[in-house]
Parts: sequence; structure tokens; C-alpha cells
Amino acid sequence: MRVRFAPSPTGHLHIGNVRTALFNWLLARGHGGTFILRVEDTDAERSTLESDTSILEDLRWLGLTWDEGPDIGGPVGPYRQSERLGAYQSRAEQLLAQDRAYYCFCTPEQLDAERKHQLANNLPAKYSGRCAVIDPNEAARRVQSGETAAIRFRTPQNREVTFDDLVRGPIAFHTDVIGDQVLLRADKSPAYNFAVVVDDGLMGVTHVVRGEDHISNTPRQLLIYEALAFTPPRFGHVAMVLGPDHTRLSKRHGATSVDEFREKGYLPEALLNYLALLSWSPGDGQEIVPLAEMAKRFSLSDVGHSASIFDEEKLAWVNRHYLKDAPHDRLASLCAPYLQRAGYISGNLSPEGVAFLVGLVPLVNVSVDRLDQTPFRLKQLFEYSAASALMQPDIRGEVGTDAARQVIGALAAELEISPRLVDKAMFRGLADRVKQKSGQKGRALFHPIRIALTGAGDGPELDLLVPAMEKGAGLETSAGFVAIAGARERATEFSARLKS
Ligand code: GLU
Repeated sequence: MRVRFAPSPTGHLHIGNVRTALFNWLLARGHGGTFILRVEDTDAERSTLESDTSILEDLRWLGLTWDEGPDIGGPVGPYRQSERLGAYQSRAEQLLAQDRAYYCFCTPEQLDAERKHQLANNLPAKYSGRCAVIDPNEAARRVQSGETAAIRFRTPQNREVTFDDLVRGPIAFHTDVIGDQVLLRADKSPAYNFAVVVDDGLMGVTHVVRGEDHISNTPRQLLIYEALAFTPPRFGHVAMVLGPDHTRLSKRHGATSVDEFREKGYLPEALLNYLALLSWSPGDGQEIVPLAEMAKRFSLSDVGHSASIFDEEKLAWVNRHYLKDAPHDRLASLCAPYLQRAGYISGNLSPEGVAFLVGLVPLVNVSVDRLDQTPFRLKQLFEYSAASALMQPDIRGEVGTDAARQVIGALAAELEISPRLVDKAMFRGLADRVKQKSGQKGRALFHPIRIALTGAGDGPELDLLVPAMEKGAGLETSAGFVAIAGARERATEFSARLKS
């Protein structure tokens, strides 16, 4: 089995295309096949090197590794269409010589007028065949004498082109609706349908999985396969990914490209798992299916025909599963850029700083949907101001009672004489002592403690947060973090302000 993913480098990698790449990759990996990456950059106006580079980078980030491709080469390269122009040229000449193609001298203005006429008269938009009747020798002479010409395919008349789609079953098109398509443009650049057939043919591609927006191209390509005497691959067309309003997923709906999802802090394995689930299921209702398992279980016959609606909440749900399981040191390094941007990391992290960050992961990974929510989740660790907390009327009200004042007074006094509470047991021990001293328990005990230590009425579990602030308070500046106030400093400040 030889499959390929053939992106056009005209923008960012769209997640609809990622799903196509993923299905091809799963087929190859599940069948001991070869996954080829081919860059379709013949549209010189729209293709950019920047997009080419970012697509490869995004695929690497996703872990969709390829066996042959533009960067690593392979036995049937090159793998960028702009480097394969000779192959298209020679195949087009072969078809000319066999009279399966002809020179077309029509000018853009003529073609435009033709299209307008067809549109106005409700006729199918296809080439009139004006140049199909020019004597081939005459046409060759005109080209020799310097006239520019495209090369068009001579579409066989009155034929039915059929194929058995791997996702959608039997599909038939009549050649009446297919005009004589351009193979090579006057500037010698190949048309998509031609380049793709020459490439898939020469690269020995056996299965093509792509979006259903290509279905009408498939009969056109099959005719070219036949003319070039290539064995055609099997085709599978997967339904489009739509936005909640049932139109094709686009910028209007929010994030659509891989780099945007990476930026938001989704894990690549979650994105892939979710994209597969959009139109595939392993059959037993299982929703969390890691990549390696997916490769074993994936089959095109289990891919649904109907369009799928992209639902970011479901993606977030999948992401949470993977966040829970991911190694803490990996998550720590993924969180670091967000903390840097928030100003919480101020320099290079020392080994001590890295260890501290890894220790913060349990505060984050079971609580956020996405890693870009990390700074907000850790805000109470890095930012503390008793003054601004006490300016809020609800906070003032909550700590204004005698019971709360007693708790906070006892808390400040106990912390004054406590070592740093660097683990949960130490924090619980302190809470016990405050309980004894103040006579309060339950919410009446913990709520004032929370407010005094964080400046807010809710937030992360104190069992985790307090040891984190205590360790943070002991960090050297060289660890790379901004200064973190410890529990003692917080309680002293809060209690003093409360009294004033
Ligand atoms: N370059 C085409 C695209 O991005 C590839 C289509 C195909 O897989 O044949 O749509």
C-alpha cells in the first residue's frame, strides 16, 4: 500500500486537511504501507515557501511522520511538483503524439466570452472544443512558429466513467458533462488534474483518500490514467468538516488551522483523536483512541458519509483526557511559554525553576481544557494583593465577621512561627492548629483562610496551592520566576489590613 498526502502550500494547514492526512497515515501505518508527502506547489501565484515550511512543521508536531517527502527524498522523487515539471511536459507530449490531447490556441478573452455565454444560457460550463478540430500538423506548425498554446485532453465521447469509492460506494459520471480539460497551460505549468495523475501514477500510489470536494475531479483523473496507461489507485472521498452553521469550516467559525490550535494549547494527540472521531468510530463507542491503537483499528469502511460538525467543546473534552495522562515534565515545558507571556516567568529557568514548574503541573493538568488557560489557573500563585482584595465589598463582607477575623488572626499568628508549608500534610497540620485556636471548622474555617491567602473566594485547591506558594517564596531570583509571596507574608499583610 502506498498512500500520500498532497497539500498545496497556499496557507496554513487547515484541520480539514489534517483529517485527510491522518486517514492516509492511519491506512499506511495500519497496513505496513508507505506514507508519502508531496507538495503541490504549481500554483506559483498562491504558493509560498513560508506555507510549505509551516505545513511540514505542523505535520511533524502532529506526529504524522512520512516515509518519502520533499525534505527526506525517496525513490520516486522529487516530491515538490515545481521540481517535476519535466515529467508533466513529457507526459503531455506523449498524449499529443497519440492524439489523446491537442493544442489549444484560445485566448483568455475567448474562453471568458464562452463561459459567459454558457452561463447566460444555462448551459454546462465546459470548453466548446473550438481547437479540437484543428489539424494536428497545422497546430504543431503554429506552435513552432511561436504561437503560445495550452495542451488539452481529448475527452472520450459518450462514455460512462465509474469507480467504487472506498467510503461512498459506486459512483458514475458521464463524459458528456466533462469538457476537454487543460493538461498544460500556455506557460507550461500543469493543471491540478494532470499533475496529480502523473505524480500518483509515477509514485505508485495505490490508495487516495481526500476530501469530497475532489469527487468531480476523480472521473477526469481516471480518464487521464487510462490514456497514460497507469493503473489507477482506489479512491475514498471523505465528507467535509463543517462549522456549527453547517457551512464549510472557515475563519468565520474561529480557529481552523493547526498552528492556531497548537497556540491555544491543545495537545497534538488530542487534536488527531478528535479529528478522527469526527467521521470515524472504532465501532464500540470508545472515544479516546490513542494514535497507535487507531492505526490498528482504522478502516475506511467505518468512515461515515455525512458531513461532520466541528465542535470545539468536544475537542476540549478530548484534550482534557490527554492532559491528565501526559508526563508532567512534557506539560511543564509546554506551559512555560504561556507563563512567560503572562510575565510570570521572567528569565531563563534554572534547574530549580524547572523542578518548581513541573511541581505546578498537578494544579493545572486536571483543571484546564487547554494549556493557554495555565496563567489564569495559576494567577493566585503569582499575583497577590491584600489591599485590592479588601477593596471588594463582597470580600470585605465575608471576612468582616468576628468568626472570620478570629480565623485570620490565628492563621497569621500560626504562620509566623511555622516553617514553610511545603506539602499538603503540613498545610493540613496548620489548618488544624488554626481550627483549635479559632474554634471554627469546615467552611467557616477554610473560606477565610482561602481569602486571606489568595485574595479571592474561589480558586485551586489549597492543598496544592499553599505548598506551591510556599515553595515559590523560597525560590532564588535566578530560578527564573517573578517573586512569589509565601503564605506567611500573605497572611500577615491581610491580617494587618483587615485590622486597619
Ligand atoms: N493539492 C490538492 C489539495 O490540497 C490535493 C488533492 C488530492 O489529494 O488529490 O486539495
